[in-house]
Amino acid sequence: MLQPIEPVKDTALPPSHPRDLAGPWHSEAACRSDEAGLFFAPSKEPTAARLSREENAKRVCARCPVMLECREHALRQPEPYGVWGGLTAAERRVVLARRRRREAELPRTDRIAAAG
Ligand code: SF4
Repeated sequence: MLQPIEPVKDTALPPSHPRDLAGPWHSEAACRSDEAGLFFAPSKEPTAARLSREENAKRVCARCPVMLECREHALRQPEPYGVWGGLTAAERRVVLARRRRREAELPRTDRIAAAG
């Protein structure tokens, strides 16, 4: 006899968010005690709701004692979704693009300095 299929629970956070991890800085994460759905978008979230949710998540990040550790972790992974370290996924992509551009320009800068 077939068993009924359990509905998939809509977990608001993927298991890798700081609030769910045990690591050197994760235990101090301010998001551990905050609303679970704040940091990741539910499916088909309207733009206005997303902007409001992200601002609220960023407010939690702004008072987080491990914001810089979290941000760097999210940039290095890189974490593709959600608010981490006070930055949205789109903002992290901008930071990463700037870093890549800076790194690409370094050798040229070195050449110019050597020639001067
Ligand atoms: S910076 Fe934000 S996402 Fe990162 S641990 Fe702190 S509250 Fe959580």
